[in-house]
Amino acid sequence: MAQQTLKQRFADRLQERQEAHLYRRRPLSFGPQQPQMNLNGRQTINFCSNDYLGLADNPHIKQAVIHALQSGQVGYGSGAAHLVTGHHLEHHLLEDELADWLGCQRSLLFSTGYMANLAVPQALMQKDDLILADKLCHASLIDGALQSAAELKRYPHNDMRALEKRLLQAEKEQRQVLIISDGVFSMDGDMAPIDRLQDLAQRYHAWLMIDDAHGFGPIGENGLGCFNYFSRTIDDNTILVGTLGKAFGTSGAFVAGSNILIESLIQFARPYIYTTASPQINAVATREALNQLKNADRQRRHLQQLIEHFRSGAEQLGLDLMPSISPIQPIVIGDSESALQWSHALQELGFWVAAIRPPTVPQGSARLRITFSAKHSIQEVDDLLQALQKVQTQLRKN
Ligand code: PMP
Repeated sequence: MAQQTLKQRFADRLQERQEAHLYRRRPLSFGPQQPQMNLNGRQTINFCSNDYLGLADNPHIKQAVIHALQSGQVGYGSGAAHLVTGHHLEHHLLEDELADWLGCQRSLLFSTGYMANLAVPQALMQKDDLILADKLCHASLIDGALQSAAELKRYPHNDMRALEKRLLQAEKEQRQVLIISDGVFSMDGDMAPIDRLQDLAQRYHAWLMIDDAHGFGPIGENGLGCFNYFSRTIDDNTILVGTLGKAFGTSGAFVAGSNILIESLIQFARPYIYTTASPQINAVATREALNQLKNADRQRRHLQQLIEHFRSGAEQLGLDLMPSISPIQPIVIGDSESALQWSHALQELGFWVAAIRPPTVPQGSARLRITFSAKHSIQEVDDLLQALQKVQTQLRKN
């Protein structure tokens, strides 16, 4: 009987989701990740991947993988957790190379960005400590903060005055504080004011954790992300998180910072300790990906051209853009049903653009999350703009 009730609850929740136009579906892709790809059996132009530099199907990375496997120096699986026997020389070299690139003491690999973000607050923060997180932080950062023993308070998006108020209060209460923010916000595409965040963190002796999943690669010199964009260097109280499944084109994540930070994570971070190390071959692929990413100035310039071209075309159409210079260029639609209509109509015209709806974004701000890859051409951006104009006219009529 109880089982029947639970089943009914699942069914009710699914139905509610359908009725609210919030049901999520997974398109089935065939072939490598590309701007031109087959999704659900149809050839489309993909404008919603995070493969910003087009490295997910890079020939040099594929060659490095083939070579490493054929040489017999690496296998596929890691076989165990890092602290058991899973920590391979390739992981170790990748960690050193990431730290060198970022100009910090050390880095530590995680199997996913989600796990890295669960790990940091859990490992570092204790009862009576305080986590101050931007209201629009990625879900994994919020989940990490909620799972830690510390108290979580959120400040309005990029509002440094509100943040300072909370820091002042925490200083009076003599609490240890961790400030958490995305570097480039994943659903809005805008950037956190890294310079002001760092100044505040320094003034109030707080730790600053920046998840630059969407900044590493497309933003900054050599793809060094938001800190580089704001001409800031990483100090001892900075915790950087980067994911490898986006501009790197591979999979996994890293946390980077001081020696004491990394040692603390190795000792105390449960999502690091109690999981199998990511495949050895992924470390091989990522070492080559880092090499490609650092040297991708041509791709970064092209990406900027695509973004500027898109923004000026979309502005002419009167579409509701966000203040973003990153490859994430959302168009705010409003309600979920309309966002889905836009997305479906674009699909009919051969363009894949995801409709992002609550709870991923706040109520009333459902949007088309358009992202660009260095592999897109200006012609494809023009074609997208033309399709947007068509859909705009079509939906206005209805
Ligand atoms: N942080 C941000 C800002 C993200 O956008 C994402 C993924 N969308 C993650 C963390 C999680 O990374 P991963 O996909 O490697 O779990």
